[in-house]
Amino acid sequence: MSTTIVVNEVFGPTVQGEGPSTGHRCAFLRLGGCNLSCRWCDTPYTWDWQGLSDDGHAYDPHTELTARSVNDVLAELLAMDVRLVVISGGEPLNQQRRMRPLVAELISRGIAVEIETNGTVVPEDELIALGVRFNVSPKLAHSGDEEHRRINADALRKFQQTPGVAFKFVCRSVDDLAEVGTLQAALGLDPIWIMPEGKKEQAVIAHLQTVADEVVRRGWNLTTRLHVLAWGDRRGV
Ligand code: SF4
Repeated sequence: MSTTIVVNEVFGPTVQGEGPSTGHRCAFLRLGGCNLSCRWCDTPYTWDWQGLSDDGHAYDPHTELTARSVNDVLAELLAMDVRLVVISGGEPLNQQRRMRPLVAELISRGIAVEIETNGTVVPEDELIALGVRFNVSPKLAHSGDEEHRRINADALRKFQQTPGVAFKFVCRSVDDLAEVGTLQAALGLDPIWIMPEGKKEQAVIAHLQTVADEVVRRGWNLTTRLHVLAWGDRRGV
């Protein structure tokens, strides 16, 4: 496979920190580039060429992204001996055709593949047919992205038809939950997972406690950010 993909980082073994697979041992493949620019993004080094995250962490944008062959990335992932690979970003579906041979190889070896997406890119039938699970995280108004950029109703309706899908919303307040409820009513999204916003333990816990009762009352699921609680805002874990 001579196809190349634009990679930010490959790391693991670690555990999935968010959503339905929280706590599961896995490897991470973080792809480069994103079509949104959320003001609280926790991976700006995948797309923002300023080289400074909003919490003051500096990075060199010239060294963050690398074109790597699928074979090379596959070998690195297999060496971690995991049963789950999480493909994240950035927005990984901007490279969905290029990543398809990699996903097919992993699944043919009995390794589950989860793709984390912002839900703005329509997933192709060929990728869905491989048996990936999508963790779809549409962005709310507090992301700072304009609504026409962050909500793609056609894409979200297609994700809804894929087996094992989960819709995961980053929330900080009960008002955010009302916004999720409006989207759910309009598009029939299910199941809903709510995740507290925060890059530091204190923020994650505070937002979790703010939304927990209302999440349960609405019949939704709640996830923490396990990697932040375990490792803080360190990269590569
Ligand atoms: S969609 Fe995700 S990667 Fe892209 S800017 Fe928003 S939080 Fe960051």
